[in-house]
Amino acid sequence: MVSGLGLEVRILGKKLIEIQDRILSQYRITLCDGSMCKNDWSRTHVHPKKRMICKWVRKNSIQSTFTLLHEIGHVENNHSGMRRAEREYYATVWALDKAHELGLVIPDSVIKFYQEYIDYTKDRGIRRGGSGYGDLRL
Ligand SMILES: [Zn+2]
Ligand SMILES: [Zn+2]
Repeated sequence: MVSGLGLEVRILGKKLIEIQDRILSQYRITLCDGSMCKNDWSRTHVHPKKRMICKWVRKNSIQSTFTLLHEIGHVENNHSGMRRAEREYYATVWALDKAHELGLVIPDSVIKFYQEYIDYTKDRGIRRGGSGYGDLRL
């Protein structure tokens, strides 16, 4: 028996892929499997000036979609002088705004993950002598 919930998940999945395709073309993003960049990082990363996102794993999931939005957030908020924690914060704020605009509900667990990452980079910045960060709360 096909459950109604399973069907809804499949429809949502297709919709998420369509949303991903739309924003990739809207923001003129080039995807790279790692072969076009010199970095051998295994994780998803972005080259903001080249508008290139490397090693992003496309999945029918909110997490995958939000990762993409976060990386595009780096492209759209690529201001010189921002420190790591500030770059991560503003990229995530941009992603949350865009997700809201697209009608996507981002789970608390995802927001918590990014907040912890922002806090980690902020703490590291402070340990290295940085100050005046502000709260940087999502
Ligand atoms: Zn790269
Ligand atoms: Zn980031």
